[in-house]
Amino acid sequence: MSGDQTRMRSHKPVEESPSSADGAHWSDRVLRAAPVLLTYLDLEQRIRYANHAHLRWLGNDPHRIVGKRLIEVIGERNHRLASAALARAYGGHHASYEGESYRGDELRYVHGNFQPEFDADGKVCGVVSALMDITERHTLDLQLLESERRFFSAFQHAAIGMTLSHPDGHFLRVNAAVCQMLGYAKREMLALDIAAITHPDDLAAEMELRQQLLAGERESYQLEKRSLHKDGHVVHTQLTVSLVPDAQGQPLYCVSQVQDISQRKAFEDALYRERELAEVTLRSIGDAVITTDTLLNITSLNPIAEAMTGWSNHEARGRPIDEIFQLHDIAQGLPVANPLRAAIQHNSIVDLAGKTQLRHRHGFDTPIEDSSAPIHDHAGNVIGGVLVFHDVSESRSLALKMIHLNQHDTLTGLPNRNQLHEQVEQALDSASRHQQRAALLYIDIDQFKLVNDLHGQAIGDRVLRSFAAQLQHNLPADALLSRHGGDEFVVVLPHLDSAGEAASLSQNLINQAEQIRVEGVAELRLHASIGISIYPDNGTDVENLLQHAQTALTAVKAQGRHGFRFFTASMKERERARREIETALRRALPQHELSLHYQPKVSAVDGRIVGAEALLRWLVDGQVLHSPDQFIPVAEDSWLILPIGAWVLRQAFRQARAWQQAGHAIPISVNVSPRQFQHPEFYGWLDEVLQETGLDAGLLELELTERMVMAGGETTTGLLRRIKQRGISLSLDDFGTGYCSLSYLKHFPIDALKIDRVFVRDLPTDPDTATITRSIVAMALSLNKLVIAEGVETEEQARFLREAGCTQLQGYLFGKAMPADELQLRLTASDRTGQESGGAANV
Ligand code: C2E
Ligand code: MG
Ligand code: MG
Repeated sequence: MSGDQTRMRSHKPVEESPSSADGAHWSDRVLRAAPVLLTYLDLEQRIRYANHAHLRWLGNDPHRIVGKRLIEVIGERNHRLASAALARAYGGHHASYEGESYRGDELRYVHGNFQPEFDADGKVCGVVSALMDITERHTLDLQLLESERRFFSAFQHAAIGMTLSHPDGHFLRVNAAVCQMLGYAKREMLALDIAAITHPDDLAAEMELRQQLLAGERESYQLEKRSLHKDGHVVHTQLTVSLVPDAQGQPLYCVSQVQDISQRKAFEDALYRERELAEVTLRSIGDAVITTDTLLNITSLNPIAEAMTGWSNHEARGRPIDEIFQLHDIAQGLPVANPLRAAIQHNSIVDLAGKTQLRHRHGFDTPIEDSSAPIHDHAGNVIGGVLVFHDVSESRSLALKMIHLNQHDTLTGLPNRNQLHEQVEQALDSASRHQQRAALLYIDIDQFKLVNDLHGQAIGDRVLRSFAAQLQHNLPADALLSRHGGDEFVVVLPHLDSAGEAASLSQNLINQAEQIRVEGVAELRLHASIGISIYPDNGTDVENLLQHAQTALTAVKAQGRHGFRFFTASMKERERARREIETALRRALPQHELSLHYQPKVSAVDGRIVGAEALLRWLVDGQVLHSPDQFIPVAEDSWLILPIGAWVLRQAFRQARAWQQAGHAIPISVNVSPRQFQHPEFYGWLDEVLQETGLDAGLLELELTERMVMAGGETTTGLLRRIKQRGISLSLDDFGTGYCSLSYLKHFPIDALKIDRVFVRDLPTDPDTATITRSIVAMALSLNKLVIAEGVETEEQARFLREAGCTQLQGYLFGKAMPADELQLRLTASDRTGQESGGAANV
């Protein structure tokens, strides 16, 4: 008797059962009640023992079947099913069977175990079999299997891409659609994980969402991402991903539905570009454009319309058109009905030809021509209106000519450096909104100087023109090409899927350049070098990207030219230099390294010094450390311009006061940077320093740029007016290089224009420049503005400008910027002789 039985017997509740003292009786009860069909078979497969289950399940009285052969009792069919397992058991091994079994004609499922019994010699002497009816569990299994089969069949054949992925990201199952979408065979894809098929820039976003999913923070997520095709191209996809947990709630796998939305994306893209194009066009055309809804409330103003009406787009939006766009007839000054009203009402185009003038927000009138038209939706319904108008005064045609001259390269007809900036800014804006990359290619012809030297300038020009044409021919339609000066060109690719695109295009441009042939040069083989910077990876503004592309170009040149390179961090030489400037600049002010020099402005009439421009100098031991063109942009970027600018103001005021006290009451001009001017405290600083130095405000002039004046809207106009009222003069520096709209000048309280030295440089030989300069001067005089020409270097230039009617001249011809005491000597001498001793003395 085993220990267990002993324990059982001594156990009280068990002892209470009838005959519990009898172990044999217990085993009998268990055998009777066991939900298992128990049988003992001898070597001839005769039944030696059968338990009560035989009676319950099969209706066989166990006593009556003992001694019969198994096959007789269970029938041939069942015997056949069990035969393999039985044979194995009789062979001396444990065996089992799971499968069909018949109870009469009823099909059941059973699980059976067959255990051989051995005699003392180790030979098999019988087999114990235990059979369990598992029909119910089996039915459940079948159902489960069926539903799984149905799921996977749906999964496999779904039109939409589907994947099952392990929480670690690798694929467990992928269907045919997703394989086809990404170009992989199933087997190949199962060896990959999510990272391998996701655009690197989109991976972090997906991993973040997946992490939240796995952590149970969300039940599913949707995501648009760029997937990567096996051949490397981008497939735009939309994913819907949910988590399947196991019974314990732990993540089991993720189910993803993957939809190819490339077509939709392409469509959106096209639409977007179209809109972008329309917007860019609107922003850059020379006409003013106002759009409204059907109720004639403003929906947009382009920049020219902003300048002509005096309303910013932002302020005007939603207001009734009659408030913004007021017309009067020229003859009597009577109000004229708004033509847009008629255009919308009659669904037709209405023109207003001349004789009408637009009243600016501040009361100025400008003669305009106007055309109004309804805007339709695709079904032809009127959904709003558009007003296109332009200034028909003489100044306007001049302004247009100047813009073109200033923004285009006369040799190649390409936009020049000035225009590039604006275009690139727009392209970057677009890339950023689109979450796309852009590339800037800085292209340089290798050893172009040799072409000029060997074949002369005329051939050189021809080569440049061919090179420009060749570039244009090989660039994608949306690329921006400009000539950056000399033999340098800049290309901007505004929509980039991968950096590789920029690389292959560069290689192509280099190859094509070699093919260029120019008449008159037998052996021309042009080599080009290209430096590439990528937005936003290498920089987010034009300046940075240009610099980095130039740095990359330098690297190409250092490696023997004739190739392209991407900017890399290790090339950051320039940036380092810039940072060095910034660090040094921080110390420059306290260490008294900054000083002001003064450049004389002379009267065009008699050559007397009538003013001076204060120009910053950074000198260490008497030597120029960096020129203002190098350090002022750094000061701007780092905001150091604020303390420096404040110092300049104070210093210039003191100097003006000192000269005034010495009997030379000449006004001093101070350059003001945008950051200073836009600072809310700017007026306060001016006022404070004026009071502090006791300077007569009339001896002070501020030089602003067109951009600063035109950009600010209402606040700027207000500030300009306050400064004027305080008695300070205002002049527009670098006139002609910025927004350049003479006709709006009259709306601003500006006293003087300084014609930029790029115009003066080409005088008097370039006929276009000569005509334009003459007209600028005439126009400015008619508006009662003074005109100052800067950068006057030759006597011919001075004569031309004098004859054109310029009021004042400034330039090396009359003196470079010099220390204050030097200028004071000149002032004294000038007073003594009554004339300036420079070139103007020869008038
Ligand atoms: P800007 O205001 O247009 O100043 C005129 C620049 O032309 C000065 O360069 C001057 O030296 C140069 N210049 C004068 N006459 C001639 C000439 O006959 N031929 C040539 N080729 N150049 C001439 P500078 O001093 O290098 O200053 C460059 C720019 O730096 C200035 O242009 C101005 O925008 C900025 N700047 C200079 N000082 C200050 C300052 O105190 N504050 C701010 N915010 N900007 C300053
Ligand atoms: Mg200036
Ligand atoms: Mg200037």
